[in-house]
Amino acid sequence: MEKPDILIIGGSATGITVAVSARRYYPDAKILLIRKEKQVLIPCGIPYIFGTLGSPDRNLIPDSALRNNNVELIVDEVVSINRDRRTVETSSGRRLGYEKMVLATGSLPRVPPIPGFELYSVFAVWKDIEYLKELLKALDEAKDLVIIGGGFIGLEFADECKKRGVVNVTVIELLPHGLLLACDEEICVRVEEKLWERGINVLANRKVEAVVGNKKVDYVKLDDGQNIKADVVILGIGVIPNVQLARDSGLEVDEKEGIYVDEFMRTGDENIFAAGDCTRKRCFFTGRPTFLRLPSIGTMEARVAGANLFRLRHRSECPIGVFGTVIGDLAIGSAGMTEREARQAGFDVVTGEAEAPDKHPASIPGTSDLTVKLVFEKDTRVLLGGQVYGSMTAGKVANFIGALIQKRMRADEIVTFQVGTHPMLAASPIAHQVENAAEIPLTRL
Ligand SMILES: Cc1cc2nc3c(=O)[nH]c(=O)nc-3n(C[C@H](O)[C@H](O)[C@H](O)COP(=O)(O)OP(=O)(O)OC[C@H]3O[C@@H](n4cnc5c(N)ncnc54)[C@H](O)[C@@H]3O)c2cc1C
Repeated sequence: MEKPDILIIGGSATGITVAVSARRYYPDAKILLIRKEKQVLIPCGIPYIFGTLGSPDRNLIPDSALRNNNVELIVDEVVSINRDRRTVETSSGRRLGYEKMVLATGSLPRVPPIPGFELYSVFAVWKDIEYLKELLKALDEAKDLVIIGGGFIGLEFADECKKRGVVNVTVIELLPHGLLLACDEEICVRVEEKLWERGINVLANRKVEAVVGNKKVDYVKLDDGQNIKADVVILGIGVIPNVQLARDSGLEVDEKEGIYVDEFMRTGDENIFAAGDCTRKRCFFTGRPTFLRLPSIGTMEARVAGANLFRLRHRSECPIGVFGTVIGDLAIGSAGMTEREARQAGFDVVTGEAEAPDKHPASIPGTSDLTVKLVFEKDTRVLLGGQVYGSMTAGKVANFIGALIQKRMRADEIVTFQVGTHPMLAASPIAHQVENAAEIPLTRL
């Protein structure tokens, strides 16, 4: 029986990062990674398969990081863990031992029990090449597409399927706006305007009652009495942590929240760690459970787990959530809490907003405006969140804001932050959006 020092279950963003980090800290360890799929899709690239990329084969994580770090790879499914013997068994009948193990089993698409979801042309977003090829085929014959869920994934699918040439694309969203869990209303409205401009219908404040058809879909029935014609339906309504293996092995899990881990990414078993979409997470601001599942969080947890396997070195941070997306020529980024979310959580907040061209002078070709909105806790002036929209620099600026949030910086500290600049690369230092959006609320306190 093969017995590596470190066994990693899961080979996507989290599993690979665990392997690379573990190799850095434990150069002599025998590391083995086992995953279900022969080739791993870049999960965040999946919507782009349907427009910009054109095929799942153009959206793959190469295995070079494993090869270059001397990590053995087995493609197989682990079906059980024996914690007393420190062994696992796979669907092909293989048995493997381990000294330390990391569960990086990720997440699965959420599929609620709505009538008609079992019909042939209803697709959830499984991270599976053959399944997505079926979806590509179905879309090529489709005229009417309905996407259920107006979060990032749903909207990215809508935009990319429109690019592919699907004639009628409709997004159904339960909340008053698409993206409302990541952005404040005024930004969601801009995104919706952009979607309409691109010929995509957004029906918000609507609930899907059923998907109706005979083998294939005919239409989607909404709670306001409308029936929306559909050849294909895509579900983009979130994910659930994949906890089955952990649960069956007796580790403590919450089906909705994930595998229980401590700040060192240890489960209740000292030889088993877990990281990524499969773990239970606590909100950075409130300490309550959060359903954020992002590779920014997963890879952070992976670096902590990988380093801590034989000696505790790092503590993980509670997640803040940093997102980004692009609809047409409108980029959006968001970090931390929205104003709406902060108020709902009970914070008294002040906000500041600033807009400026993303290069300077604005006559430089390719310049476009970028707007930043920052949300501060009123009493402490600590930054709780930020949203960015406009130019393609939005993602980078959202990451910058994310770092300020994680370090719990106050508005007065941000104002004295020294921000580098260059005409081709950044806003004018006089008009830097983050600096100005931080200074504006200070004048009101
Ligand atoms: C369509 C889509 C678009 C997204 N876009 C973005 C984006 O733009 N930005 C962003 O920040 N986030 C995005 N996300 C979220 C991001 O993709 C996830 O947070 C990320 O994939 C989590 O990585 P993970 O490695 O923890 O889990 P997963 O990617 O779910 O990987 C789990 C791994 O575990 C393996 N596994 C599971 N069970 C077993 C078993 N029993 N035996 C062996 N192997 C097993 C699987 O085969 C897989 O390799 C997107 C997600 C989706 C689905």
